[in-house]
This record gives sequence, C-alpha cells and structure tokens, in this order.
Amino acid sequence: MPLDLATSVKYLKGVGPRRAEALGRLGVRTVGDLLYHAPHRYLDATTITPLARAQMGTEVSCVGRVVTTGILPTRRGLRVFRAVLKDDSGLLECAWPGQPFLERTIKKGQLLLVTGPVRYYHGRQVVPREFIVLAEEGETGPDRGLILPVYPATAGLSHKQIRALINQHLEALLALARDPHPKPLRERVGISELRTALAAVHRPETLPQAEAGRRRLAFDEFFDQQLVQARARFLAKRARAGIRFELKRELTTRLKEHLPFELTADQRQAIREIADDMTAPLRMHRLLMGDVGTGKTVVALFAMLLAVENDYQAAIMAPTELLAEQHFATLTQLLEPLAIRPELLIGRFTAAEKAAARERMARGASRVIVGTHALIQESVTFQRLGLAVIDEQHRFGVEQRAALVEKGDAPDVLLLTATPIPRSLALTLYGDLDVTQLRERPPGRGAVKAALRTDEARARIYEFIRSECAAGRQAYVIYPVIDESEKADLKAATTMADKLTKVFREFTVGLVHGRLRAEERDDTMRAFRDNQVHVLVATSVIEVGIDVANATVMLIEHAERFGLAQLHQLRGRVGRGSAPSHCILLSDVPEAATRLEAFTKTTDGFRIAELDLQERGMGELAGARQSGGMALRYADFGRDLDLLEASRRAAAGIIERDPALTRPEHAVYRERILQRYERGFELFRVG
Ligand code: ADP
Ligand code: MG
Repeated sequence: MPLDLATSVKYLKGVGPRRAEALGRLGVRTVGDLLYHAPHRYLDATTITPLARAQMGTEVSCVGRVVTTGILPTRRGLRVFRAVLKDDSGLLECAWPGQPFLERTIKKGQLLLVTGPVRYYHGRQVVPREFIVLAEEGETGPDRGLILPVYPATAGLSHKQIRALINQHLEALLALARDPHPKPLRERVGISELRTALAAVHRPETLPQAEAGRRRLAFDEFFDQQLVQARARFLAKRARAGIRFELKRELTTRLKEHLPFELTADQRQAIREIADDMTAPLRMHRLLMGDVGTGKTVVALFAMLLAVENDYQAAIMAPTELLAEQHFATLTQLLEPLAIRPELLIGRFTAAEKAAARERMARGASRVIVGTHALIQESVTFQRLGLAVIDEQHRFGVEQRAALVEKGDAPDVLLLTATPIPRSLALTLYGDLDVTQLRERPPGRGAVKAALRTDEARARIYEFIRSECAAGRQAYVIYPVIDESEKADLKAATTMADKLTKVFREFTVGLVHGRLRAEERDDTMRAFRDNQVHVLVATSVIEVGIDVANATVMLIEHAERFGLAQLHQLRGRVGRGSAPSHCILLSDVPEAATRLEAFTKTTDGFRIAELDLQERGMGELAGARQSGGMALRYADFGRDLDLLEASRRAAAGIIERDPALTRPEHAVYRERILQRYERGFELFRVG
C-alpha cells in the first residue's frame, strides 16, 4: 500500500496497535504527524572524547567498540549492566544501574556512542544518559559524533523508541513532503526548503542546522495562521458596514484650539488614522496602543467629538471607578471651553444619581459619556451610540467589550491599551483589528531616572523619600505579591507598611492590595490622589492608568520578582508631572542584576515588551499559542517575531492578489487550510 501523509501510522513497519495508541496520545495519528513530530531538544554528542581522556566529574560523549559485557549485582540489590568500550586511546567502562535488560541490546563487537557523566566506582566509569549503536560487529561505523534529537515521549513509548522509529522511516517520509512555497518566497524570507528543513530537524549534523530547520517549520505555522487571518480580515471588511461620519471640523477644531498643550506628532497621526476610519463606510475596529503617559485619552476624545458633532453619542468605558473618575475629570476640564458637560456613570453612585444619568443618556441629553462596567448594565440605553471606546481593553472580557458595542447600532470601536505588544503579535492575537501606535511621549515631562540598588542602600533611599515628601511630593513603595492568595507575601507587604509607618512618622502611609474590598482600596487611592496619603505601599495590584502627577518616587522591592513589562508599567506611574522622578529597583539577587540593569537603561516600552516576551515566552498571553485555531509546535512568539512579521506580509500579499486562493499556484495553500482549520471551509467557501 502506497504511503501518503494521511495514512494512519499503524500501517508503518514497527508500529503495532499498542504503539499506535501510544503515538495517538502524543497527537501522532498519521504518517504526516510522525514526520512533523518535533524533537523538543537535542543532545549534542558531536564532540567526541577519546576513552582514555574521559575525566572524572565531566560530561563526555565517547565512541568505542564493545569488548566485554556483563551484569553485576550491587550491594543494594540493584543489578547493573556493564560494557567495556575500546578505542585507539584505551578502555573505559560504562555502567547502566538497574538496566540488566540492556544485555539483549548491547553486544560485544558493536560500535557504541555513549554520552553521560564520568564518575569513579572502582575506576573511571561513564553512566550513559544515552547510547546509540553506530555499527554492528564487523561493520564499520561513523567515527564522528552525532546530534541526538530527543522527542516528546509518553508512557509505553520512550523517546529512544520514537527516535528509532523516525530514523527507520525518515527517507520514506521525507519523500512525501512537498514544499508549498515557491523558491522566490523562500529566498525572500530566508528559509530553507521543506525537505531539507525536516531532515535537519530530525537528523541534524550541527545544532545551527537543526535551528534553521525549526525556523522553516515555524514560518509555515505562522504563515498558515496569517493566511487565515488575512482572509478573515478581507471578509470582515466587506461585511462591516458602519456609520459614515462626516468631518465637520466643528467640535474637533475647537478642542484643538483650546487644548492646553500641543499634540505630539504621534497623536496627530493617530487622530488622522481614526478620522479616516470613522469617515469611511466600514465600521472602525482599531486598537490604539501607547505606552503609559503617551496621551491616549485626548486622542480618544477627538474621536468622541467627531461622533458627537455628527449627532451621535460617544462612550468611554474604564476598568475601575478611579480611572473612570480620572477620565471624567480630564474630559470635564478639556470640554469646558466647548460648553460640553460629560456624563459619569459608576457603580458607587446612589440609585437616584444613576437613574438620573441613565435618563439623560437615554434621552440623548448627554453626548460624551464616561463610566465603568455600570455602562453595560441592562438598564442602560443610549439614544444613539456612535462610538464605543474601551480603555485598558485587556482588562475587560470579550463579552463585556461586546456588551458596550451592542448598546449602539453598529458603532465604531476604539480600543485603548497601555500594554504594548509587538504589532505583529497584536494582529495575531486580535485578528481583525487595525493597530495604531503612540511611541512618542509628550514633551515637558520630568525625566524618570531609574536605578538598581541593593539592600545596603535602604537607609539612604528612605532619606531620599523623606526629602521628597518634605518637599510636598509623594512616593510609591511596591511589594511583590504575585498571587493575592499567597499569605506569606501579603504578610510581608503588610509588615512593610507597618514598618514604613514608623520610619515616616511625620507622613501618612497607606496600603493597598488585592485582598482589600474595592471601596476600601479606592478610598486609599483617592486619598493618595488628593495628597492626604504621602507614601503608598501597594502590591502588584496597583491600578493601571492612575495619574498622580505629584508622585515622584517609585520604589520597587524584590524587583527580581517582576517581569520587565510589569516593571515598566510601574515606572510609568511616576514622571507624570514636570518634576524629575525616580524609579528605584531594590534587589539582592545577583543573577537578576543583568536584566534589571538593562531595564534601567531603556525607556522604550515596545522594546521592553519584546524583551519581556522573550523572557517569559508566551505563558501569560493566554490563548496566544492556540490563536488561529491551531497549536504552535515549532514557532515561538518570543524568538520568532521576525518570522511572524515576514509571514504576515507574505500572507497579506497573497490574499490581496488572490483573495479566495483560486489561482492554481495557490491551490496547495487552500488545501492546507481546508484540512487544518475548522473554520477553513467557512472562510474559503465564498469566492
Ligand atoms: P495614557 O496614554 O497613559 O492614558 P493619558 O491620556 O492619561 O495617558 O495622558 C497622560 C497625561 O498627559 C494627561 O495628564 C494628559 O493631559 C497629558 N497629555 C496628553 N497629551 C499631551 C501632550 N501632547 N502634551 C502634554 N501633555 C499631554
Ligand atoms: Mg490611560
């Protein structure tokens, strides 16, 4: 029976029903799955040590002929299989404790590659982690070393058995692989041909070769996803009829005239992009990404006024009451010269206040609306919602975002986030979304000096905080509580607050953490905002987006326990006024010094986001690995952002030229997607 990639593995020689079942548990059901079953690491046995020179206490790889074998009982009743190897330099014993059954595999006369540590036991001895029979008795074998792929394994099927199985069939399997990409594309992106790549992954001669192979397969994974997304975007754009706002230049122009500051070039560009979207017949669905303090709110306000001057309402929803109040205060101030009074709706209002606000919204008396989750309560209706803005969008669930949008009749949507992620990744995670970035910070901000210190400096740091507070400024002291259920951490933070209360007797010290009731937390935060609390001890729950321009010191305890992106968010809490600010990282972990030191030297949030991603991998960006409906096996968002970007460009180009992949040269892409993606059929059904 001729093999193809869809043939069940059970038809392969060496795979019985038991093995087929074990392979199934690894997700390997077809011959193609086996070909794409990727090693998760490699054992480098390319540097061969002559037997006589294997030194005690080192890790070695050696090649030699088996001259004797035997089984020795030890005192503890463990049976040890031994084999003595010989090469030109001499002899060396290998010992496999507890593996007497190797007697059936390792035979006198074989040429063996072993790799493992050398220990002393009545003489030098290698205890192999791995071995490979390079040649049988009488045969000559390679006298160089090897790179050994190590495969994900499962009960009843060891990685060595999988290695042997793949090795046995590799040539036959490779013959089935067809490269879907034409040579020019491969050359443009700088990836290898498919068979070469697969061979390199399973049987590399060097580690860089294996890596080049992996990158090629990683590109393919991204590429398929990106094709699907490019197609989804194409269809969504066609289907997405929305409001066609007119650029009346009434309120927006007046806002510009009355702004107390000059917009940055990035802000102007963002406003242009948003206006283009809003005046187009399609619904806007745009993510405005900007580091903390880049001034996203005022950009959103322009969009809101564009809606309002077209006789629509515009709403902005924030994740906490404090943020909503802050936006309300900012908008009230900025809109005053325009004689527009924004509406605020938050949970802590009295029933009567809420009812009055709801009534004004339903009637259309309020045009610019600010609120929290309170906005998406069932009782809330808008007279004519034309634009929904969602601040700190990642703090809301999909349904919550949708709930606000559904309060209107196909309103435009603007999402704001201060958690910058690389653009290509945003597109992958959020799919059908346009992205605008604000990189530039408004001028006139005091610089934030960052420094890394050890506990030795504590007394001096406290004196510094004291002098800042004495000058009327305020300070944050952040304590890591990674998980609010971790009692020990929380206790430490609480103890720290008590201690600081004694240190700063002349000032007021406050404490906020995630275990406090929301009202209690908000009260303390308000007191800090109003300069009634001078030193705020907080755990990592500290509100994103809170803007206290008077705070000039950010002290972060155990800085090594924070991710870089998190540190960056924290640093963004200071430097909001014109006074110079300080972000001090305290850490006594020498291993962390390099990365923390690097952090103090860069202020580019996007760069930090990339570094952070590399550090953490994708762990915290839930769902990212599964994005596009297919798990990633080779690709890694941290390491392979360049490939993600390249694949996005390639895929977008193809869909632009051939939206339904009907051209013959694209048939293979179309087929792959129909096979691999649940939504494939739905996406490519229409022409
Ligand atoms: P974020 O992007 O973090 O949400 P905000 O919108 O809260 O930032 O803006 C932070 C502060 O910067 C606000 O006080 C805002 O009024 C101010 N701001 C915004 N744009 C500018 C600008 N172009 N020049 C000076 N200050 C600005
Ligand atoms: Mg903000």
